[in-house]
Amino acid sequence: MDKISVIVPCFNEQEAIPVYYDAIKPIMDSMKEVIFELIFVDDGSSDGTLTAVRELAKQDRRCSYLSFSRNFGKEAALYAGLSNATGDYVAVMDVDLQDPVELLPKMYQMIQDEDCDCVATRRSDREGEPKIRSFLSDCFYKFINKISNTEIVNGARDYRMMKKSMVKAVLEMHEYNRFSKGIFQWVGFRTVWLEFHNTERCAGETKWSLAKLAAYSLEGILGFSVVPLSLASVMGILFCIVAFFMTVFIAARTMIFGDPVAGWTSLACIIFLVSGVQLFCIGIIGAYLSKTYLEAKHRPIYILKEEALNQHKKDMHKNMDTQNKKEEGQNIKYSK
Ligand code: UDP
Ligand code: MG
Repeated sequence: MDKISVIVPCFNEQEAIPVYYDAIKPIMDSMKEVIFELIFVDDGSSDGTLTAVRELAKQDRRCSYLSFSRNFGKEAALYAGLSNATGDYVAVMDVDLQDPVELLPKMYQMIQDEDCDCVATRRSDREGEPKIRSFLSDCFYKFINKISNTEIVNGARDYRMMKKSMVKAVLEMHEYNRFSKGIFQWVGFRTVWLEFHNTERCAGETKWSLAKLAAYSLEGILGFSVVPLSLASVMGILFCIVAFFMTVFIAARTMIFGDPVAGWTSLACIIFLVSGVQLFCIGIIGAYLSKTYLEAKHRPIYILKEEALNQHKKDMHKNMDTQNKKEEGQNIKYSK
């Protein structure tokens, strides 16, 4: 029997969790040919999220949970979930029902029928999303795809089902600054895309402010492209060329018209421009350096405070233990 692990990151989602469970339960019940493992990852929530997932774990042995010591971010939650998943197939989905649960059986079917390692999803539209957010997202995807060798698919969700082999590859990327949209693409493997219409979240509010999204976009750019680093060299060359022509021009003008003291304003402008460009380039180098610094510290990606995992696995071990004990007993009888 195949086993599907579903990773569900939750940050302050006490209202969404029961709605999510009510939606996914019939799906799990209907797929009788598979065993389910639902891993909720409480990302340091300050509301009743932990109590809600504890309750579910008591109620349904397919549910288990991990709880972080503080908010480490969705990327860390995904990493923790993937590290603890034991299924042959692993799905990753949000708890707010923006990732339609009805697609799960279809994904399972597709990953088996089509010769692929991953069934990923993307939104065909951005209905219901603020216009400014959609516009900025479009700009980000256009920009990053110009400067990165890894294709970052516009509208791609983290919602996907992967084979164990792909999960293993994703886990081998233990970088501290994580950008899953890039990591999933970077590891390769054959991915089939499923499209769905955007839906609004079932309860609660989005945890992504524009500032958080901007920081996340920067994470993607710094993690999957080194092109900004070469900007300093490109600017340097450009400025040298301009400086050469200006020198020729000023020297010729001085020789022909003498040297009237003028041009203070233009000089000041040039100094401002050049120092601005220099500081900007130093800033880019600084951004990469700060990420390298964080990587070099090898801090853990997340810290667990509480967990209740793999009830199935534990039961299996318990059964195996009793079996072993029985066998040991038989052996003893034999040797006597
Ligand atoms: N999430 C998380 N940690 C965070 C922020 C979000 O685990 O720091 C979870 C959140 O609970 C949800 C998923 O990530 O299950 C997506 O978050 P959200 O719906 O706020 O993002 P959006 O859909 O608006 O992009
Ligand atoms: Mg959402």
